Amino acid sequence: MKNIYSQFDEDTSNKFSLSNKENLYNHLKLLESVILSTSDIVIITEAEPIDTPGPIIIYVNEAFSLLTGYSSEEVIGKSPRILQGKNTDRRELDRLKRCLKNWEKCEITVLNYKKNGEEFWNNMSVSPVSDKNGWFTHWISIERDVTAIKNEEFQKAMAAEEIIRVYAERNTILETIGDAFFAVDKNWIITYWNYKAEILLGKTRLETLGKHLNEIYDKEKYPLSYLSYNKALNENKEQHFEKYFTSLNLWFEISAYPSVKGLSIYFRDITERKEASEKIRLSNERFERVAQATNDIIWDWDIINNTFNHDDRFRSLFGHEFGESNNDLESSIRHIHPDDIYEVETSLQNAIHNREQLFWEAEYRYCKSDKSYAYVIDRGSIIRNSGGDAIRMIGAMSDITHRKKIEQSLEILNSDLMKSNEQLININKQLEQFSFVASHDLQEPLRMISNFLGQIKNKYANKIDEKGKKYIRFAVDAAKHMKLIISDLLMFSRVGKTHDQKEQVDLNEILQQILLIFEKPINESAAIIKWENIPVIQTYRTKISLVFQNLIGNALKYVDKTLKPYIIIKYLELENHLQFSVSDNGIGIESKYFEKIFAIFQRLHKKEEFSGSGIGLAIVKKIVENLGGKIWVESEMGKGSCFYFTIRK
Ligand code: ADP
Repeated sequence: MKNIYSQFDEDTSNKFSLSNKENLYNHLKLLESVILSTSDIVIITEAEPIDTPGPIIIYVNEAFSLLTGYSSEEVIGKSPRILQGKNTDRRELDRLKRCLKNWEKCEITVLNYKKNGEEFWNNMSVSPVSDKNGWFTHWISIERDVTAIKNEEFQKAMAAEEIIRVYAERNTILETIGDAFFAVDKNWIITYWNYKAEILLGKTRLETLGKHLNEIYDKEKYPLSYLSYNKALNENKEQHFEKYFTSLNLWFEISAYPSVKGLSIYFRDITERKEASEKIRLSNERFERVAQATNDIIWDWDIINNTFNHDDRFRSLFGHEFGESNNDLESSIRHIHPDDIYEVETSLQNAIHNREQLFWEAEYRYCKSDKSYAYVIDRGSIIRNSGGDAIRMIGAMSDITHRKKIEQSLEILNSDLMKSNEQLININKQLEQFSFVASHDLQEPLRMISNFLGQIKNKYANKIDEKGKKYIRFAVDAAKHMKLIISDLLMFSRVGKTHDQKEQVDLNEILQQILLIFEKPINESAAIIKWENIPVIQTYRTKISLVFQNLIGNALKYVDKTLKPYIIIKYLELENHLQFSVSDNGIGIESKYFEKIFAIFQRLHKKEEFSGSGIGLAIVKKIVENLGGKIWVESEMGKGSCFYFTIRK
């Protein structure tokens, strides 16, 4: 390598003294050792060489060759532009040019190119060098590869940019998330308060930022929250808890996350979830309560997975255990009575496959673990998906064994009753037959007795004394009374078996005829008989006529002789019945006899007081009951009586 001061050796010998020369030499030696040992590049260019467009390199040090790959021979005499390339910053080069023009020192960092084309960042510090007359003749450029620093700077810049971006993103997220969020530093000073926190917690950023959390939320008022925050901060562990804010009527899930700077606290509004789970809890509780309150066995059949679950009552009632191995439908229904199983299975399959059907019901016998059979009624509600396929069934099974047993004993009782009834009907028929025959057959001997008593009276009138005549009169009266009894009895026995047809009967006509029948006693007692709004009805003429005849006859008979009988007949239409009443102003009946008077032969007076057989009201009761109604009396002694009766419409 050419010595830097070799040229000085040639032309300075005449101009400097030895000591000066020595001094200079020493200086140059020193300079050379610096230039050779430095890791910086040193380039010396001649400022304005003749016949060249710009400065040319006259010297490069070893460091130059090491970095750029060019040897000193390759670059000496060339322009320093040899290191420039397409990405070298032109503006920086222009700046350098301007400095060079004014012989000013300049520092630039530009991208340069090594011999192999590799880029490197070159920091160049270019200074002018002047000769002894003060003329600038050379440039000395100290250059350094700063690629590593540049890359680091670049990465730092990139990292800074990324941090800014992430922060911006975080802030956007924090502002737009549905959760309320705030942050505190390690001294509990609020450093962040997002928009949602302003809304949900009812405090603005202005009010909260920079304040101690305690100023915003009193520690004493929220001890549990502070306990969790402290734990998060001290133990560096995130904390989660749920809290109901009465003033907001909202539920929050609060999460406290420890961070390098302090705590981040999120408030998630979980009111909807809480309400939904509360609803589910209530409905489950209701279901469980219902299941407990009812004696039914509640079951749940997942049709898709064919899992069949019963509640605990199933085991206690029937004794069968269902575990995971046998919790399918088949395991459950195999206990059904063999005679019932086909019907149950068919109805269940039909119910499931009929998309319209939402309910299933069956009654069958179920075999208990002790081999006895329980009668059950089983009802299920079918749950279908939107396509109408049955996916689940929930049902209740009731043990109706007890009811069934009662039903069975009732059936037996009923058939016994039917038999007794038939027997009674037969006995009744025989009795009617007997009373008919008896009364009919009795009439003849009675007629004979009356006849012969009449003949005795006529033929032996002058032979019989007054006493004998009186006895004959008694015997005739008794025979007459017996005749009356026999004819009434005959009528009573006939009531049930008339062959009358139902017809339209104008009851006004019937009443008119009855007035004719009782014309004599009515006239004698000057009785008043009134009725109004009496209808035309579809009924048996003879029967209804007998009812009114008996009641009006009694009303005319059982009166205080000093009073004029006053009889009113009324009508009232009820929902299913027609109601009639016959009221009088007669002697009245004691309430204790209200029932008794309707029985056969029951009389409250001697025949000397009021004539009669004691059969009239019994006949009336029998007719009324035959017509689907009932009869009763209301009465007050000395004031009168009112007989009510109804007949079915
Ligand atoms: P009887 O042939 O004696 O009239 P009933 O069966 O018609 O027989 O009546 C039974 C009894 O009911 C009568 O003996 C009488 O004591 C009483 N009785 C019936 N109707 C009346 C009435 N309107 N007022 C008072 N008592 C009556």
